Amino acid sequence: MVVSAGRWHGPNLRAAIASTFYGDLGIEETDIFVSDGAKCDISRLQLLFGSNVKMAVQDPSYPAYVDSSVIMGQTDLFQKDIEQYGNIEYMRCTPENGFFPDLSTVSKTDIIFFCSPNNPTGSVASRDQLMQLVQFAKDNGSIIVYDSAYAMYISDDCPQSIFEIPGAKEVAIETSSFSKYAGFTGVRLGWTVIPKELLFSDGFPVAKDFNRIVCTCFNGSSNIAQAGGLACLSSEGLKAMKDVIGFYKENSEIIIDTFASLGFNVYGGKNAPYVWVHFPGRSSWDVFAEILEKTHLVTTPGSGFGPGGEGFIRVSAFGHRGNVLEACKRLKQLYK
Ligand SMILES: *Cc1c(COP(=O)(O)O)cnc(C)c1O
Repeated sequence: MVVSAGRWHGPNLRAAIASTFYGDLGIEETDIFVSDGAKCDISRLQLLFGSNVKMAVQDPSYPAYVDSSVIMGQTDLFQKDIEQYGNIEYMRCTPENGFFPDLSTVSKTDIIFFCSPNNPTGSVASRDQLMQLVQFAKDNGSIIVYDSAYAMYISDDCPQSIFEIPGAKEVAIETSSFSKYAGFTGVRLGWTVIPKELLFSDGFPVAKDFNRIVCTCFNGSSNIAQAGGLACLSSEGLKAMKDVIGFYKENSEIIIDTFASLGFNVYGGKNAPYVWVHFPGRSSWDVFAEILEKTHLVTTPGSGFGPGGEGFIRVSAFGHRGNVLEACKRLKQLYK
């Protein structure tokens, strides 16, 4: 097969993403930027926003949002307490508020990072909650960066895309990935949606600026990865992704049952591959060390995801069934 240099003549991955994930939501293939992953796009979005902006993040949340903000210089590093960082607003998400922030206490920011289902808590936002979020962004002139890396794990009746919310196209960017659907963490393939309706306050389309950044800092994801992505979006590929997601969610159930039977309060897992376990009054790192030393299992200390994660650990369901069962057996011995 002869392929001319620098041009991809295969079927259009952007069109396949638009029709698979945004079928009747009015998102077009020209609104989609194919990338080498959501994490990379989060940093490129930070380049777009620059250093002179204020951010809000769920607390706890995926560390890339805060860390890329710090790298961009959006924070006041001379303030020692991370919760006091000048330009980052931590939106506390705890069992008490159902893991959805009380927006009436959140100050106005330029950008709001929001991930649902959330990593690490595994909680998913309802339609009503996302409507509140979109309204909040409209009222404040904010842009939401909505991370939907786990949307296909949703089994409750909750939106899989922010663009299911009326009016979201004027206030939201959505970033997503093949990493957690098809084991593409090493292959590297994701996408970001910037609707043409999303405008800066001077009326200039955000997508045009992002296109300039993508074309300057990145030359597109490899043809090989894109061909893999297209295979994932064929009917056979979609079935394979659903099956593997179903398998990981069975792992989540096994992990939830194990901790619940030991008397712990357990969250997440139902719409996500992560189980969020509460150890009230204990430090996340102490619990992490105890589990590592006594059972040789690796968990993730919740405080690594923000101050609101203190006292929790995140348990991942990404594993072989035999290993998950063995891990649960050891945890039962430790905490019986
Ligand atoms: C894993 C993960 C990503 C990263 O995805 P890549 O496409 O592999 O860069 C982004 N967001 C969240 C919330 C994740 O957990």
